[in-house]
Amino acid sequence: MAVSVRSHRILIAEDDAVLRNLIQQVLATDGYAITAASDGREAKRLLGEESFSILLLDIGLPFIDGWTILADATGGTRPAIIVISARGDERDKVRALDLGADDYLTKPFGAPELLARIRAVLRRLDEGEGSGIVETGDLRIDLAKRTVHRNGIEVRLSPTEWLLLAELAVRPGEVVDQRTLLAKVWGSQYIGDTNYLRTFVLRLRRKLEKDPVHPVCIETIGRQGYRLSIVHQARC
Ligand code: CA
Repeated sequence: MAVSVRSHRILIAEDDAVLRNLIQQVLATDGYAITAASDGREAKRLLGEESFSILLLDIGLPFIDGWTILADATGGTRPAIIVISARGDERDKVRALDLGADDYLTKPFGAPELLARIRAVLRRLDEGEGSGIVETGDLRIDLAKRTVHRNGIEVRLSPTEWLLLAELAVRPGEVVDQRTLLAKVWGSQYIGDTNYLRTFVLRLRRKLEKDPVHPVCIETIGRQGYRLSIVHQARC
């Protein structure tokens, strides 16, 4: 699917001027509208004032670090967040995903990889997920409006959390295997990356299940995959 880059605005929060300028150049050449912030305070201010499709977020930032920005960036209108970090540690990666990052890129990275990750995230944002309303337990999932309500109260999901839920909700009661979910939500290059999937399933359960440790609606089906179960009592 073609992704229209010009309608997407990207904020870069990076204190390393050389890297920031380089990223800015690469993305501008590709047609994106770019805003840059050199520290965490500026990034927070811009996030509050303008709307962006993507935030490229360095973890080690002056004044307010990337972890704090990530933890604070909640709500339905927040951009998709790609963390760029010098730390290649798997625990940092899981922590970033757990805090709401949509992807994680380890420095140093090349321009083609950066652009590919951005395209993948934008593709996820742009793809419609069908229509219809799925009700299970105390959840009401509206696939056309891209909203989920629990007991009548809207639950805010990140763009990636929503896509994962929508993949399950378009096949209610059916097991969707891990590879399919990884390919559809993150892209085919991610089909081995079950960490992403586990982390996001956990995040969805924390937001949507009464007891996330004993989930009722978002079920794990052995090693196969996951299922959105249709239950008729309010048990999620
Ligand atoms: Ca830095």
